[in-house]
Amino acid sequence: MASRIATAIHEHRLLPGTKLGEDRLASIFNTSRARVREVLARMAREQMVELFPQRGAFVAKPSIDQALDVFEARRLIEPGVVQRLVKHVDNTKIRRLQAHLKAERDARKNADKRATVRLSGEFHVLLAELAGNSALLRSMRELSTLTCLTISLYESAVNTCCLVDEHEAVVNAIIAGNSEQAEQLMLKHLDHIQGSLRLEADADGTDLEEILGDI
Ligand SMILES: [Zn+2]
Repeated sequence: MASRIATAIHEHRLLPGTKLGEDRLASIFNTSRARVREVLARMAREQMVELFPQRGAFVAKPSIDQALDVFEARRLIEPGVVQRLVKHVDNTKIRRLQAHLKAERDARKNADKRATVRLSGEFHVLLAELAGNSALLRSMRELSTLTCLTISLYESAVNTCCLVDEHEAVVNAIIAGNSEQAEQLMLKHLDHIQGSLRLEADADGTDLEEILGDI
């Protein structure tokens, strides 16, 4: 259940703020409400879901401040991820990276928007997995989900997404064993993602939750 909900979030089919009713989920997944509550509580700990007393569970809606925190954390973590991967890369890992890039290119060629957004987030999780540090992987999973929710909320263009060319450039630097270049390319890539979002609280991007939520 958690992985199907997560996939729907990563494919932008379930949008931030969507109510996740216990009864409906119990019937969709043919399980008990107790089990649904347990899964939602776990997803809340991973910040994917927000729980409100009386009102229930909703797909999380990161505020602008939370979104900025996410990008700051990614800038600290992801250069470390690629640095570690350059040290531990082998032929099997290179094949997996190349297979992923091919899947991303195919999704884009087929104009499969759902697969494109999901795969572009998964690229970053794959790097953390291949780098071989389980704590980094866990953090990257959470940050990737929060980024995905942030993109749904604050994208300025219809097609905000990782650019597969930039992913390719990072992979090439990793394969070449050029750690410094891979780290720089990753930081530039994160700048581009963040730059395509409206994270200034200007007229258009007014964050009502932030302004009115905590009175
Ligand atoms: Zn990316």
